[in-house]
Amino acid sequence: MQPLLLAYHELFTIHDAGPDHPESPERIKAVMNAVKNAQWRDHVKIVEARVATEDEIALIHDPKYVEAMRRLCEAGGQYLPSMESNVGPESYPAALRAAGAGLTLADSIMNGEFKIGFAPTRPPGHHAIYNRPMGFSILNNIAILAQYILDKYNIERICILDFDVHHGNGTEAAFWEEPKVLYISLHRDNLFPYDKGRLKDTGNGEGEGFTLNVPLPSGCDDETFLVAFDRYVTPKILNYGPEIILVSAGFDGHIRDIIGGMRYSSGLYEVIADNLLALADANAEGRVITLLEGGYELKGLAEGVGRYLGRLIKG
Ligand SMILES: [Zn+2]
Repeated sequence: MQPLLLAYHELFTIHDAGPDHPESPERIKAVMNAVKNAQWRDHVKIVEARVATEDEIALIHDPKYVEAMRRLCEAGGQYLPSMESNVGPESYPAALRAAGAGLTLADSIMNGEFKIGFAPTRPPGHHAIYNRPMGFSILNNIAILAQYILDKYNIERICILDFDVHHGNGTEAAFWEEPKVLYISLHRDNLFPYDKGRLKDTGNGEGEGFTLNVPLPSGCDDETFLVAFDRYVTPKILNYGPEIILVSAGFDGHIRDIIGGMRYSSGLYEVIADNLLALADANAEGRVITLLEGGYELKGLAEGVGRYLGRLIKG
């Protein structure tokens, strides 16, 4: 067993995306209940997610966009079509904590205190782009985390693995020309954000070859996912030799989740965790930081996260 560092903040359960919105505070409550009721709960250290600073957010986002979002939220918020969600007074502070959660984990993991970290980040982040919110996301939590580690620590190769059922267009865009970040996404083809995440999209310039998209057909089961993982993802990561693995973990591919349209079982997330640990042991000293992205069916989400974290802790 190895201890898990979990960065949490109550604001993750306060941001209000709108009435009957699938991206609900109940998601985070379900995840935290799964952690608190798990057999391995004594191996989890929960710390407060800190705020990401303006400078840290500016690693990925246009300060003018961030300032406009802050003002909009403070003024009471509104429905944002590109985000497909409301924002309100708590949304901006929640986004600062969601972005800061990864940074909280990064410092403890890079200084060797922990090997594995997790944050039930909300709002999620992987769709947010340089100057715009998108797909329930305000700030790109995982992209800010990756750039923070590159800048602060002596790290040359980071892998971001994104197994949310949607393509992480914002993360891909942030590192499209960056060879120090290998972005890998396994997602459902022909789903939001549409016309993104195609097999032929592999990066540009110095970043050419450092993006790997694996689109999968709707209705995929565990076996199809794992065949694709073994065939494309494992050799790519082994060849790259990342010094740390960051994970955009979405559980909206779970069979219970009607948004995703896939048929993954809860057990798949155990196998993903096993694969990640093996890959992290190869070159990354076992370092894996996971941030929550999607997952909208509460039972499937809680089970998926529980099985995934349980296996990481089991080591
Ligand atoms: Zn998703």
